[in-house]
Amino acid sequence: MTGSAAAPEPVLRFDSVRKAYGKDAPPVLRDVSLDVAPHTVTALIGASGSGKSTLLRCAALLEDVDDGAIHLDGQDITDPRADADAVRRRIGVVFQAYNLFPHMTVLDNITLAPRRVHRVSRAEAEERARELLERLGLADKAGDYPDRLSGGQQQRAAIVRALAVRPRLLLLDEITAALDPELVGEVLSVVRDLKDEGMTMVLATHEMGFARQVADQVCFLDGGVVCERGTAEEVFGTPTQERTRRFLARITESGRW
Ligand code: ADP
Ligand code: MG
Repeated sequence: MTGSAAAPEPVLRFDSVRKAYGKDAPPVLRDVSLDVAPHTVTALIGASGSGKSTLLRCAALLEDVDDGAIHLDGQDITDPRADADAVRRRIGVVFQAYNLFPHMTVLDNITLAPRRVHRVSRAEAEERARELLERLGLADKAGDYPDRLSGGQQQRAAIVRALAVRPRLLLLDEITAALDPELVGEVLSVVRDLKDEGMTMVLATHEMGFARQVADQVCFLDGGVVCERGTAEEVFGTPTQERTRRFLARITESGRW
């Protein structure tokens, strides 16, 4: 090889993705292209309705794309011939709220997918679950039902559940948005730890301070378009687009940063 080292193959690649909810509806994602390198964190920022959740849901194969493609480790997962279940097993997803099944204990919530989908034995699934619960500070919650946990504990348990299948990629959609402010920190610190361990993550967030600290790449979406993309320092420190500057100014003025 000559010159600079080749960039590693992205874990996730959005290639000119277009998506509309319905045939005659306006597109919600317009030609979105984005690469997520291994062991990096990408933060999706942008106003409500800009398309962050849709982008994550498309990557998780919870929505179909209308045009373009999404690649996971080089495989076109939007190809109709791709095995969607096999793809979903490689991706962990955590949403804003209501992640855990209320009628199951925390432990059963976490071991469900490894046992049912990945055919891991109960003993092995429980061992891995307890190890993760311990790491995320929830060792004593294994036998509790979700409604006995605080919101922050529930979100940490939801992260444990996503990690239980040893995903290649974690998608986190506004996972602190429904939490009381005093509970946000404990969840964000888990994300920070996962980053330190090398987990590849894409997260939609309104926590700009956090995005600035933790993200390797920040992507500002506006009306379904990647308006600006760069390192956290570039996008937050020296945004080049007027729309990015206006968005960040609005957030600063609202005191949410
Ligand atoms: P964000 O997560 O940035 O707030 P979303 O991806 O949720 O943005 O939404 C982008 C746009 O798509 C919005 O205009 C929203 O109203 C619309 N939208 C999202 N989900 C659906 C749906 N299931 N059906 C129709 N429109 C939707
Ligand atoms: Mg959203």
